[in-house]
Amino acid sequence: MPRTKVWRIAAGVAVLTASALASRQRHETFDVIIRGGTILDGTGAAPVQGDVAILNGRIVAVGAIPATANATRTIDATGATVAPGFIDVHAHAAEGLAGRMADAMPLLAQGVTTVFVNPDGGGPVDLAAQRHAIETKGVGVNVGQFVPQARKSSGWRIGRRPAPSSPAWSTWSTMA
Ligand SMILES: [Zn+2]
Repeated sequence: MPRTKVWRIAAGVAVLTASALASRQRHETFDVIIRGGTILDGTGAAPVQGDVAILNGRIVAVGAIPATANATRTIDATGATVAPGFIDVHAHAAEGLAGRMADAMPLLAQGVTTVFVNPDGGGPVDLAAQRHAIETKGVGVNVGQFVPQARKSSGWRIGRRPAPSSPAWSTWSTMA
């Protein structure tokens, strides 16, 4: 890849146009530049060496950012891989995200930016309440919710015998 080119990302397609060039002139100061990493763009394309520029919370340039560009923060990614966030499709994180770990720093530190909660058939029946609880704290990652299929009624979880007084007892006892 030529070191002098900058690709602008629009809807997942790299486009270099006159307007993008004009935009590049306006945005030669970025919030963050990640320099010299091995970039995996998430499309399955081969990794490339290059830089990533971020402005106002968005990736605005990928490629070779000119050395004259300024940034509030520059990260040297030499020897590191720069990738879109990873997706954890089996996250037991719902309670933490609705509580004191709403910022999701342990996930973000591993590069995980999207989680799917309620794995293994578990989780609350009231998904709207769970969603509200998570959103209220200003959660730090994207969250998807699985429907907790093993919780048809309260008190029934996989591998656990409900109490005879539980509404789940009759269902469980016919399956046991
Ligand atoms: Zn699990």
